[in-house]
Amino acid sequence: MDIQILDKKFAPYITEEKINDAVCRIASLINADFKEKTPLFIAILNGAFIFASDLYKEINIPSEITFVKLSSYRGTQSSGNVTTSIGMDVSIKDREIIILEDIVDTGKTLTTFIEELKKEEPSSIRICALLHKQEATTHPIPIDYLGFTIPNLFVVGYGLDYNGFGRNLKDIHQLQEG
Ligand code: 5GP
Repeated sequence: MDIQILDKKFAPYITEEKINDAVCRIASLINADFKEKTPLFIAILNGAFIFASDLYKEINIPSEITFVKLSSYRGTQSSGNVTTSIGMDVSIKDREIIILEDIVDTGKTLTTFIEELKKEEPSSIRICALLHKQEATTHPIPIDYLGFTIPNLFVVGYGLDYNGFGRNLKDIHQLQEG
């Protein structure tokens, strides 16, 4: 059933069950790939908070997690402005980094953030994103662990918001035009 958030209508798009399957699949891959390692997960706030929380519960290797805040995304259009990160309180030098992101759209946010991280000389950087709007990507970045490729339509739920609302929806919903 469609739901109304502020002035817009959204239709159910990816169910809680499918999201959970994707989270478990990604976690198994990371558990296998980083078996002998001690990665540091960096989750990007605000949007990735639910994805990061569910994924991290499925991680069974020694690891750490920290959270950073980057630029905000206003309305249903990417602002294109990426500010520097706030909250990086852990040294990443010689660490194996796994970035947790809710959605890669143009790719600008992660491209800028990765450049910033590289200056601190981590030993590796892997990218894990729940969603990828492949058609909208102008700054291609390799996504090592991906939940779903989606069309270039605005989505909410499972941590993703529309002007601050809708983050608590269990399913991901897609904007209905018109
Ligand atoms: P990029 O820099 O890749 O264009 O934008 C990435 C950020 O834009 C994401 O972390 C997310 O915060 C926001 N974003 C991109 N597409 C959507 C969308 O469909 N819905 C919501 N809620 N946020 C989005």
